[in-house]
Amino acid sequence: MAKKSIADVDVKGRKVLMRVDFNVPLDENCSVTDDRRVRMAIPSIKSVIDRGGRLILCSHLGRPEPGQDNSKESLKPAADVLGSLLGCSVKFATDTVGPDATSKVADLKDGEILVLENLRFEKGEKKGDTNFAGKLAAFADIYCNDAFGTCHRTDASMVAVPQAMSGKPRVVGFLVDKEIKYLSDTITKPARPFVAILGGAKVSDKINVIRNLLSICDKVLIGGAMAYTFSLAKGGKVGKSRVEKDKVELAKELIQVGGDKLVLPLDTHCGDDFKSTCNKVVVNAGEIPDNFEGLDIGPKTSKLYAELVASAKTVVWNGPMGVFEMAPFDEGTRVVAEAIANSSAVSIIGGGDSAAAIQQLGFADRVSHVSTGGGASLSMLEGEKFAAVELLDEA
Ligand code: AMP
Repeated sequence: MAKKSIADVDVKGRKVLMRVDFNVPLDENCSVTDDRRVRMAIPSIKSVIDRGGRLILCSHLGRPEPGQDNSKESLKPAADVLGSLLGCSVKFATDTVGPDATSKVADLKDGEILVLENLRFEKGEKKGDTNFAGKLAAFADIYCNDAFGTCHRTDASMVAVPQAMSGKPRVVGFLVDKEIKYLSDTITKPARPFVAILGGAKVSDKINVIRNLLSICDKVLIGGAMAYTFSLAKGGKVGKSRVEKDKVELAKELIQVGGDKLVLPLDTHCGDDFKSTCNKVVVNAGEIPDNFEGLDIGPKTSKLYAELVASAKTVVWNGPMGVFEMAPFDEGTRVVAEAIANSSAVSIIGGGDSAAAIQQLGFADRVSHVSTGGGASLSMLEGEKFAAVELLDEA
């Protein structure tokens, strides 16, 4: 599924419409409190302007209501941050496809950057409207998608715009390129053994990920609160642990389908309250006392999971092994993260909480890939194909 990249097209003197993810957090004064998403887009941005391309950047920010006072969701602060990071002037259009955008697009010179106002100020964006898409598409000669966090969506800027630009180059940026390489290509042709570790709060969020990975992995290790629903399915005692009673039948089915591939915890670190200071006890899985709840995998499980990770050639991890925000119940997550950091396997960390955990533990630079998209990375692990990516040019 290799896609043509922005590096493969001649951009000199041509207008490039790049969909980026500048959905940055803003404080009450509309100052950007975390510029990570802007920084991550810089390699693709520089690739265009350094080669004399005329760059038009578009993104959504927040969830504005079209037609309301949306001044707090303007992309202007993100455009300013980009200017400071690049040390050059970045132009800003006060509308998305209106007169200001149209005249500033027409005036763009080689190597210049224009940021359009928030895509979601236009009601056509969420609706995937072809009229709105046609106006955006008419701005440019080349389309580039570098917004991985939105790739599982079918908003106009993701699907209808590249559709309207059929016949012109439609490529991925460096961020999306790397995500696809790891989350799709590596997973479909993995070096074996291929081990997946899935944790987090609910089985229901990860059913399709578990199913898909059971069909391609050699082992799928389960941790987090979802392990207790599996425990119930096996007739175990779970005390007052977090469970999804309506998913017990499904857990039974996954246990049957998974066979030896599905590895469940051997022991559980429990507490009598959801607090660091609670009374604690480690018990065998399925033997949690009535007044206790499972808050982490136990030491025997951590050791087993670390050994399975050490023997793997490809590792995918999504979801913490326990309540990693609350010591000492971060231990299982830490042991697993450390095993991944120490292994020479190709290691892929799904977005969301496991990405946060690996950063927090300081291991992020010792894994092959930390995904930037929560929902998008889960959908890719489910084996879903994204229209926004499928329609782009093949390499
Ligand atoms: P998710 O968003 O599904 O990946 O779940 C992440 C959340 O699951 C984190 O906030 C964890 O604290 C929580 N979690 C993991 N294990 C447990 C557990 N044993 N009991 C309660 N919450 C848990």
